[in-house]
Amino acid sequence: MPDHVFGRSTRGVPPVAVRGEGCYLFDAAGKRYLDGSGGAAVSCLGHSDPDVRAALHRQLDRLAFAHTGFFTSEPAEALADALVAAAPEGMERVYLVSGGSEAVEAAIKLARQYFLEIGQPQRHRVVARRQSYHGNTLGALAAGGNAWRRAQFAPLLVETSHIVRCYAYREQAAGESLADYGRRAADALEEELLRLGPDTVMAFIAEPVVGATAGAVPAVPGYLPRIREICDRYGVLLILDEVMCGMGRTGRMFACKEDGVAPDLLTVAKGLGAGYQPIGALLATGRVYEAIASGSGFFQHGHTYMGHPMAAAAALAVVTAIQERDLLAQVRRRGARLDARLREVLGDHPHVGDIRGRGLFRGIELVRDRATKEPFDPALGIHRRIKAAAFAAGLICYPMGGTIDGRSGDHVLLAPPYIIDDGQIDDLVAMLAAAIEATCP
Ligand code: PMP
Repeated sequence: MPDHVFGRSTRGVPPVAVRGEGCYLFDAAGKRYLDGSGGAAVSCLGHSDPDVRAALHRQLDRLAFAHTGFFTSEPAEALADALVAAAPEGMERVYLVSGGSEAVEAAIKLARQYFLEIGQPQRHRVVARRQSYHGNTLGALAAGGNAWRRAQFAPLLVETSHIVRCYAYREQAAGESLADYGRRAADALEEELLRLGPDTVMAFIAEPVVGATAGAVPAVPGYLPRIREICDRYGVLLILDEVMCGMGRTGRMFACKEDGVAPDLLTVAKGLGAGYQPIGALLATGRVYEAIASGSGFFQHGHTYMGHPMAAAAALAVVTAIQERDLLAQVRRRGARLDARLREVLGDHPHVGDIRGRGLFRGIELVRDRATKEPFDPALGIHRRIKAAAFAAGLICYPMGGTIDGRSGDHVLLAPPYIIDDGQIDDLVAMLAAAIEATCP
């Protein structure tokens, strides 16, 4: 086997994936893996979907590439129309890029340019949340709140400060109602804006349902509406990052619809291309777009592959499949089953502290002690061991480590394809339970 690919890990060559079919991947040795996390919440339609393949073949036969400096294309236009039609109220424009980090990067730059165009150049800061992840390019990394990731590349390009997360399992006080907790968590934004000087801040960014860094933690009811109010009160743009939780993953095309909140800027990626093509999108309100259109008339940004016809054709087929196959209802139904099975099988496990999520986006938090919620010692690398045990048994799941505050436990994120059936849900839960049992006895 050649070994010149510079992979994520330099500690060895992983198995070679050679084929995907439905909810399964196969490696070169013929081993089958149940894709319990869609890779990283990517493969929402499963592997080798016939409609997406057909759309890609058709597009390839017609037009593979036309540079956006000269042209738009039919699939890009149709995709933008479909996204706007499904998006929260007020989203009118779609900027197509090639992935999640690019979408966040574009959102930050668009926010900055918006304030320059409307004559508020002093607004340059971003507020985000602790422990958040919004991508790995330098701007997106600057927005994210993971101290370890940030430290290595400091000083970062965008001045960002971080407020508490909305994380009821860890942060809700004894005797505090969920509604009061949601208000308190959101009010941290107002305090931070007042501390910084609100007219120096351009945007607040958050995931409506936190994916990789917390394990499918939804905002509590009332939190996002209050965040919206605070942003409006101080003229700050609200960026919702739905790179992971968007495109039907939570049972709504856009997760924020569940919260009844529309942002100013909205990012999607992973499930949009569903693994068939690298693509991401930034959705913007008419107000933000108009400021640029009637100002300089040119967004100072761009990537060679943005709006790529093949990527747009794949994404259009994905959006069409989600809508025409009524997959949002299916995600809600199968998500409820996954949740119920997880609770049945793991609900009483001494090291399972919390089971949460929405739709087919579920998380399990592992703790040393259920009563005190004390996490495992991070040095034990519980999440890595669960991942390895599950992978060896033929299950792909997405575990992540305990967190910077030293208080959160290791967790496992589940985000299977929307086509997962009841038997596969049972297999997933059984294999995961065995991996947890072997790792946290
Ligand atoms: N935002 C969120 C919420 C993400 O989960 C991710 C990827 N895990 C990104 C942004 C970055 O996306 P990408 O890896 O496609 O650049």
